[in-house]
Amino acid sequence: MRRLWKAPAVLVAAALVLSACDLVGGGAYPSREITIVVPFSAGGPTDTVTRLIAEPMAAELEAEVVVQNVEGAGGTVAAGQVADAEPDGYTVLMHHIGMSTAPTLYPDLAYDPLEDFEMVGLVTEVPMTFIGSPNFEPNTMEELITYVEENSDTVNYANAGIGAASQLCGLLFETATGLDLNEVPYEGTQPAMEDLLGDQVDFMCDQTTNTTEPILGDQVKAYAVTTPERIETLPDLPTTAEAGLEDLQVTVWHGLYVPAGTPEEVVSALNTALAAALQDQNVIDRLNALGTAPVPQDRVTPEAHRELLQSQTDLWRPIIEEAGVTAS
Ligand code: ASP
Repeated sequence: MRRLWKAPAVLVAAALVLSACDLVGGGAYPSREITIVVPFSAGGPTDTVTRLIAEPMAAELEAEVVVQNVEGAGGTVAAGQVADAEPDGYTVLMHHIGMSTAPTLYPDLAYDPLEDFEMVGLVTEVPMTFIGSPNFEPNTMEELITYVEENSDTVNYANAGIGAASQLCGLLFETATGLDLNEVPYEGTQPAMEDLLGDQVDFMCDQTTNTTEPILGDQVKAYAVTTPERIETLPDLPTTAEAGLEDLQVTVWHGLYVPAGTPEEVVSALNTALAAALQDQNVIDRLNALGTAPVPQDRVTPEAHRELLQSQTDLWRPIIEEAGVTAS
């Protein structure tokens, strides 16, 4: 039986005075609802990862955590919005590898990913897979390359906009094969996947968080995984290297951000909650089933996150510049 404890009136009054003081002085964090902004549609990979960790983070923070999808311009609309938000820890951004490609893709980007945010920590690294619509002719990566070559006017490649991981993967495919893709941009993977399943677009490259189930259910054609080794959840799927695209390797890392100037203790509270969420058995099991895993605990730090963002920005810049892709 649960015991109910009734606070004496004097204690209740003291608590009320205390919380009023808290509010005046900025107060203990968190004292209200936290919003995690997802820069792509609901149901896509970024959204899936965010919603998985939101609940255990809320439990750790003892506050409500809501997820808000702010789509547009390959994730840059949401990132710009969070960069401009109050640096108080109540507006948090979940973003992926696109944080490192956007500065090269968007010469007029309104924010600087390294300067305008505090990093909270890395979350996960997700393999990508090339998949085709159910009635798309090619059955293997080799057939896909030949088919795109022979039908370059009509074949469509779905992505989630310039700055999306799917756009980066398409760019790597173009660089590796010398082919040009007709890209069809969506606001996220979820609407792209719906059209792919309905044979309205031909192929895409996206994260295993959203492609594992359609691949295992034989709902789509699967061509290759973009990791150096095959992955346990899809053991029959060849790697891009096995399929002849040795240089095409990419995994999509995700991280949490708050606006620059957020107090250190707030970043630290969010980091502790993130680290706890990534040890939650349900989170681990679900990510494992979707072909990924939480990053190791020693990498769930602002320092590791900043280092990765910097090195990835440096890695992708010349590749994007060489490909000559810009958003304007
Ligand atoms: N992660 C996807 C992409 O970048 C978009 C999404 O999360 O919906 O292609």
